[in-house]
Amino acid sequence: MKITSLVLLLCAALPLASQSAPDTKLQITPETRAALVKLGGQLMVDGKAYEYDRQLADEIGPRLTGSDNYVKATEYAKSEFTRLGLSNVHFEPWTIPATWEPEKVATGRIIKPHEQRLHIESEGWSPSTPEGGVRGEVFYLKAMTAEQEKTDAESIKDKIVFVDGETFANSGRNFGKLFDALSQLKGLGARALILGLGAANNTPSMIGLTNFDGELSNIVAGNLGREDTLLRRRMLAHGPVEVEFSFKNKIRMNVSVNNVVAEIPGSDQSGEFIVIGGHLDSWNPGTGAEDNGTGAASVLAIAEAIKASGLTPRRTIRFVLFGGEEEGLIGSVHYARDHVAEMDKCAGVFITDTGSEQPLGWYIFGRADEKQALTAIDPLLSSLGAAQTTDNGRFTFSTDHGPFLIHGVPSFVLWTPLDKYFDLHHKASDTFDKVNQRDLNLGAAVVGITAYAFADSATMLKHYTNDEMEKQLKEIKAYEEYKDMADHKLF
Ligand SMILES: [Zn+2]
Repeated sequence: MKITSLVLLLCAALPLASQSAPDTKLQITPETRAALVKLGGQLMVDGKAYEYDRQLADEIGPRLTGSDNYVKATEYAKSEFTRLGLSNVHFEPWTIPATWEPEKVATGRIIKPHEQRLHIESEGWSPSTPEGGVRGEVFYLKAMTAEQEKTDAESIKDKIVFVDGETFANSGRNFGKLFDALSQLKGLGARALILGLGAANNTPSMIGLTNFDGELSNIVAGNLGREDTLLRRRMLAHGPVEVEFSFKNKIRMNVSVNNVVAEIPGSDQSGEFIVIGGHLDSWNPGTGAEDNGTGAASVLAIAEAIKASGLTPRRTIRFVLFGGEEEGLIGSVHYARDHVAEMDKCAGVFITDTGSEQPLGWYIFGRADEKQALTAIDPLLSSLGAAQTTDNGRFTFSTDHGPFLIHGVPSFVLWTPLDKYFDLHHKASDTFDKVNQRDLNLGAAVVGITAYAFADSATMLKHYTNDEMEKQLKEIKAYEEYKDMADHKLF
């Protein structure tokens, strides 16, 4: 709160003269409706999202923020936007404290109670292990909190601390406290950390230990799949367990990273705009085809479809592909910060980040006026089976709308079921064979139709003040999380 309140006050103090009058309804004229039908049809039957995703995932590959592949992806997106005839196509750079890429395949083994291979990977943004690897006895930490660690301080010293899903379930959903606990381990003398958060068939799942700021973790951290995790829990119930592991990561400090931005200019001159966005970066074990190749591909496909349909919206549509999302929304935090002076002209932000499943509608985050506004296009979204909304506070700061939301901007995230997503995201199995073309087109059509309706309406939803945003977040039980992140200077 302390961090953003000043920013929000500045925002509220900007002149409102050129803005559309706030309303809770979208104005859908017959012309707008015809444009939405044309755009929806274009995206459903001739949408290019599937091919864009194939190129991102199969031809470019995993896109760790700041890596060579990430740079390739930004250049690819920029050249596509240019080829499609978009305006103001450019990079917007920001600096990440560290980039991280695995350099050598990780190896590991259990030593005690018996010798066995450990299917370990380096956790994202972990330093390399020292020459010769890390070896030591394993200590299971039952909650990732500073208090629990202090209680267990004697046992943590010189051990390899092991945590799993149960540890995190016992830790509470407070990112700041979690980060504090993580940072403290090194000081308590832990040799390393092993996270057992992966999936079946010993598939590790990346979370990244960057404290939402892109800094390298202060402790070496490995990552295990489900079977090795469960085995370790069973072994520990019967006696001491000793392991060793080794990996080498390529780490570069203070690297410039680009968001990619392009526009379709609106017909009026008010300077108002909407943002259609998603993150371009991905984790490395797979190729990020679902998380978030689908979202980035949808952004490109919507731009392509609007151009192909020959449509000109009232407001400018800004397409933004962010980097650094997986390390803590870093690209979108920078974007919102850099554009704070024009945030009052942003009529809505529309983010895609949940893969290719049949869309249900929109995640909204506690604003009744957003739900009300969407009713204007209900008949069109219903025909795609996607006219629902959900106020699920769990994902309020889980993707790139978050930094816009706290600036009072109407914020929407495409809502799809997540059953397939959680089996794939951040894992080696996140590859293009999982992408369902029809569902991907459906998602792009829902985003395209909704965003275009907000871009073309003569009316615009109000910007929430700081107080209104606070009330909004309290209603969906996301305020504590926000406050904690703000206190840690993450916004
Ligand atoms: Zn994602």
